This record gives sequence, structure tokens and C-alpha cells, in this order.
Amino acid sequence: MQQNHQEMRSTPCNVCDGTDVSVLANHSRSGKPLRTVICNDCGLVWADPLPHNPRSYYEDDYRVEYKGTFTPKPKHILRAGKVALYRRKLLGKWIAQPKKILDVGTGGGEFAYLLKSLGHDVSGIEPNKGYAEFSRQEYGLNIQVGFIQDIQQPDESFELITIWHVLEHTENPCDVLTKLHALLKPQGILVVEVPTIEAICQSPKSTFHEAHIFNFNLATLRKLGEKVGFTEVEHKISKDGANITVFFQKNAAVTTNDKKLKIPGNAEYITNIVKNHIAYKHYLTAWPYQRFLCRMSRMMSEKCAIANFVSGKQLLDRLYA
Ligand SMILES: [Zn+2]
Repeated sequence: MQQNHQEMRSTPCNVCDGTDVSVLANHSRSGKPLRTVICNDCGLVWADPLPHNPRSYYEDDYRVEYKGTFTPKPKHILRAGKVALYRRKLLGKWIAQPKKILDVGTGGGEFAYLLKSLGHDVSGIEPNKGYAEFSRQEYGLNIQVGFIQDIQQPDESFELITIWHVLEHTENPCDVLTKLHALLKPQGILVVEVPTIEAICQSPKSTFHEAHIFNFNLATLRKLGEKVGFTEVEHKISKDGANITVFFQKNAAVTTNDKKLKIPGNAEYITNIVKNHIAYKHYLTAWPYQRFLCRMSRMMSEKCAIANFVSGKQLLDRLYA
């Protein structure tokens, strides 16, 4: 660790603007070179230099590389539909009344469709043309193709914005949250979910991969929100410890004092977790075996559920009924 300290200058930290970094890893989960650094002042973790051009990657390549398709297959619709139901539960009181909602990174549209069927006025934005077009045609959703920075919406348009597993893929999370802050009405709620760098349920060699440019923990995500004018009102951590969901409320004040953006001890804390998450310890825990069993039982139940597949809409209507 020590020999890497300040070895190479990095782009400034997206949370605290610091440049004092240490190298956490040099390879991704696929074994390719991927230099991952941690900010010594706040603990934000990111890939430096950028492993790909985020724009062209998400417009065309991402779904194909990850799912081998330009439109969602039945099993992906089913999985995303189940995730959407989980998210509805997670949002609880925040969606009890009909609201004007923006879902950022709508994917195949499953969650936006669930919100629509609950009576909300939903808009979405999704960079992948195939997925955006599919969700418009299949569910009649109002989805713009593009990145959030390019959205055609006046400021203060929404009461609630959700952004699930998108922020870690963006090239500048601070800019993204600033944009979302502007799009929210005063006192509006932003719900951000990301994987946490503290997670140890996955195999250690899966910790870093090209698609995740940034890796947060609760402290760095909260600080980033505060930096652009949000206050955390609630947060949730998934049962397996893999994901954090933070509920932010828009306020007017913005933290500009650099000292306030540092998070003492967080870099050491995260480095410790990452360095101690090693293969032999991981395989002595129940996590890898639970994951295997879950995957097997999921495969079986999915086969039944999509046996007589007619359309995405029909599948979700049944699931959400
Ligand atoms: Zn930092």
C-alpha cells in the first residue's frame, strides 16, 4: 500500500476535490488491467484512468456485453420486474401518493411501468436506444433516449427522482447529482442506490470491474449528496450488504468548504475491508454457496414463469397484479 501512496497523480476526487490517492487494485475481475485508486482524504474509490468512453459504451455496447442483447429477453424482464417490486417496497411512504417522478437509467422500463400502473406521472431517461425504444413501445412509457446531463426538462419538474445502479457508471457523479438537484422541486426527494465498496458477499476478484467507474460507501455517497445541496433523510442497506439506498431531500444550502468534504478515517476503513476480503476467507463463509443455490432455484422458477411468454407487458401485468 505504502509504496503506491502518491505515486501517480490522479484526476481530482469527485467528492472532496483532493488529489492524494493510493492504488487499491491494478486488475479488474476479468483480469484486464484496471487501475483503481482511493482518495486518502475521503475514501472515494474510482477507476483512473477511465477504462472506456462512458458515452459510446452505454449507448450501444453495455447491454450487449452484459446481457448479449439490444432488447430485454423474457428472463431479464421477469428479473427486473421482481426487482421493481422490491424497489416499490423500499420506497414505501415516499410513493404512497401519486407523484411526478423521473427514473434515471430506466433500462427495460420495468420499474417505470410499475410506477405508472400505481398512478404516478412517470418520465424516464435511458442511454441505450434498444432498451428505451422497447420500453416506449411495450409499456407506452415516456422515455427519452440519452444521458441525464442532456435531459430536456425544465428545472424543478419532479417531486421524486430515482436513480438505481447508475451513478457508479457515470464519469462525473457530482455533475449528475447537481443536475438532479436542479430537476427536483424544493424539498423533493432523490433516491440513489449503488453497490457499496464495503460488500463482501461477492467473490473478492469481482470487486472491481470496468463498468463501475466509481465505488462508494455510505459515507462518500452521503458526502457527495451534501456537497451539491442534499440532506440525507433515510438510508437502507440490502440484506446481503451489497447495496446502499440513500433518500436525499433537496435543500438550498451547498457545502463549499473543502474541509467539510473530507471524511477522516474512511480511506483506511475501506482499504482494510478490501485488503481483508480475500479468496480463502470468502470461501469459508456461507456467501458463495448461498449465491449458487439462489441462482439454481432462480433458474428453475424462471423457466416456469416464462414458459408461455407472450409479451413483456403481459408478463409484468401478471407479476404486478
Ligand atoms: Zn476525496
